[in-house]
This record gives sequence, structure tokens and C-alpha cells, in this order.
Amino acid sequence: MIIKPRTRGFICTTAHPAGCALQVQEQVDYVKERPAIQGPRNVLVIGASAGYGLAARIVAAFGAGANTVGVFRASESKPGRTSSAGWYNSAAFEKAAAQAGLKSFSVTGDAFMPETKAKAVELIRRELGQVDLVVYSVASARRTDPATGETYNSVLKPLGGTYTNKTVNFHTGEVTEISIEPGTEQETKETVAVMGGEDWQLWIDALQAGGVLADGATTISYSYIGSQITQPIYREGTIGQAKDHLEATAKQLGDQLGAIGGRAFVTVSKGLVTQSSSAIPVVPLYISALYKVMKEKGIHEGCIEQTYRLFSERLYAGGEVPVDAEGRIRIDDWELREDVQREVAELWAAVTTDNIEQLTDLAGYRKEFFQLFGFETEGVDYEADVDPMVDVPNAY
Ligand code: NAD
Repeated sequence: MIIKPRTRGFICTTAHPAGCALQVQEQVDYVKERPAIQGPRNVLVIGASAGYGLAARIVAAFGAGANTVGVFRASESKPGRTSSAGWYNSAAFEKAAAQAGLKSFSVTGDAFMPETKAKAVELIRRELGQVDLVVYSVASARRTDPATGETYNSVLKPLGGTYTNKTVNFHTGEVTEISIEPGTEQETKETVAVMGGEDWQLWIDALQAGGVLADGATTISYSYIGSQITQPIYREGTIGQAKDHLEATAKQLGDQLGAIGGRAFVTVSKGLVTQSSSAIPVVPLYISALYKVMKEKGIHEGCIEQTYRLFSERLYAGGEVPVDAEGRIRIDDWELREDVQREVAELWAAVTTDNIEQLTDLAGYRKEFFQLFGFETEGVDYEADVDPMVDVPNAY
């Protein structure tokens, strides 16, 4: 089948297996070209098929030589229909890991469900014994609470008042003003239930109860702070409440794991193009301006660069992990540099539909968006007939 992108807003309903495989290989190569990391031996990544989670799996495996278990939602190929990019990414990862002689396994299922946790615990016990790093990188729009059966939806809304700012349709380049009504108390509660730390805590509890968490184990999850421009919709909005909860959970888990010599961190990461961030109003325009400034300064990073730096210069640099006053790892340091933010703010004030292509890196944003689904990747023949049916080896 000839596979072309089919988009609906910020969603692409098709994915290209060869493009995804090449994207994964490029990340693997990036890591292999760099000094090895004295890092974890056996790693569980929850939310492992895209974005920061996939990058963490790649850095752990190819940077530190770790065995890995990746958890992600199933999306098996069907005749005439493509799978998700995450499925193709995971297939490519599994193959590369096998070639490198690393053990790797995939657990497919809803990470929020107890049966997925049980499956992962059982697999770790059987194949690896224990894990010494747990990366929690799930980003989702909804979660069903296993205790109550209730389904929560997360929303991206400001709090306290209406938020008005510029936004872009990144397909057309049209810059418009958007006004977003504040989230309600119920919406905030649900967003915290989806994107806060509850499920991270449940995973650690399940791993500990199952006896598969090694003494001295580390766990990390991801947060975001970002610029003044996006504060009302992000950090001070409903999702910010969820990140506050996640950060509080890290403290709790730090105490819990401290008893076995372990540690828990939230790492505040850089804003970049992923399936999750493209869904947030205003953020794609901010990221387009940010990419422009950071690329010009030679300090632009994607998921893999951020993650390699996180492992090599923070988590496994030897010695105490540097954290901010709130105990968080900061790998958003370059994004939040004063000169970067000043220049982004200047672009922000000036950007319109007419000048967006010159002032910002919208072209780079768009390209990376399509690359998330395996498209616009150099070296792939998009006119060639490809089989959308791809197996993920070692998937349970
Ligand atoms: P992403 O969309 O690229 O990846 C999300 C992952 O979660 C995928 O592997 C997906 O398969 C998995 N997933 C989603 N729902 C699942 C479910 N029910 N069961 C199993 N797996 C599921 O997202 P991302 O941007 O890499 O986000 C990861 C974390 O990083 C989030 O906490 C996000 O808030 C944070 N973060 C993102 C940015 C950014 O700009 N993208 C910046 C800072 C922090």
C-alpha cells in the first residue's frame, strides 16, 4: 500500500512504517555516537512508544546498554490500514535492540489498568528479575479509574479567567486570536486525575508489591514550566494543576523509595513537537518561535538530545543529581535562558499570518509534526509500496 499522511487537525490518522523505523534508527545512531553512560541495567518505560518515553528507552538501551521493557497501547496492523506511529516505532526499537544483543520486551495495553501493570510485573520477574529505573512518560487525554470505573477527561484550559492570545493553525500558517474560557473545578479535578501522579504512584506500588523494584531504584516522570507566554494555558491552567500533583507525587515517591535507597524525580523538560504538545492551543506557535531562536543560537534539542543530556549530565553523571529549590531536575535550562525568552517574546509580539514563515520556524514545526508519523523523512521513498502489517517482536 502507498501510505500518505491523512490529517484531522493535530491528529494524523495514518503512519508510515519505513519512516518511523528510520526516525528510530536516527535516534539510536545519535546515542551510539556519544560516550557511553554508566547508567541503569534494567529499565521499565511506561509510555514508551513516542516522544520522551521512546527517547528514554533508546538512551537507556543504546547509551547505557540496558535491557528494557516498554509499555504502550496496542495498535496492531490490519490489512489495508496502518498502525499507529508508536507501534511502528516500537517494532523498530525491538529489532535494533535485538541486533545489539540487548534484551527488550513490549507490554501492550492500557497503562492505567491493573492487568497491564500485572503483566509488566510478571514479565520483569520472569525475564529481568528486577528493574533499577522506571520512567513514567504517559500522556493521555483520558483515563478510566480502575477503582471506580469512572472515566476522566483532561482539558487544556486556563483557570480564574478567560485567556486570550495568538495561536496558529500550523497546517495553513494562519495566525488568529483565540479566547479560552476557564476550566471548571470538575474539569480541573479530572485533568489532575488523568495527568497528575496517581497512576505513577500505582505503578510504583505494583512494582514494589511484586518484588521487582531493585534496591536503590530510580523513578522519573516529566513536567513542564515554559515561558510567560504560555503560563496561563499551561502552568497556571488545568494541566499545571496536574503537574503540581505530579511533582508532589515525586516527593512522596522519593520518601517511599528512600527506604530502599532509591530516588524519585520529576524532570522539567523543554517544549517540543510531540503528539501531545501539538494538541495544546497557543503552544505550537510558541514552539515555532522557540525553535527559530534556539536553532539560530545552536542550542536546539529534540527528545533524544534532551534525554541524552538528562541521563549523562543529570541522572547518571555520578554524584548528587542537581535539582532546583523544588527538588526538580531542570533540563529546560536552555529554553528558559533569559536571552532565548527575550527574543521569543519579541517574535511573539510581531508575528502575524503574513510574516510567520520568516519570523518563526513554522516550517520546522510542520516537518517535525509529520515526522512524528513517519512522514517527511529523508531517505524514505513515499511512492513505494509498503506493507502496513508490522509485527512488534517480544510483545505481550
Ligand atoms: P507523546 O504523546 O509523544 O507520548 C506519550 C506516550 O504515552 C506514548 O508512548 C503513548 O503510547 C503513551 N500512552 C498514552 N496513553 C497511554 C495509555 N493509556 N496506556 C499506555 N500508554 C499510553 O507525549 P510526550 O510529549 O512525550 O509526553 C510525555 C511526558 O512529557 C508528559 O508527561 C508530558 O506532559 C511531558 N512533557 C512534554 C513536553 C513537550 O513539549 N512535549 C515538555 C515537557 C514535558
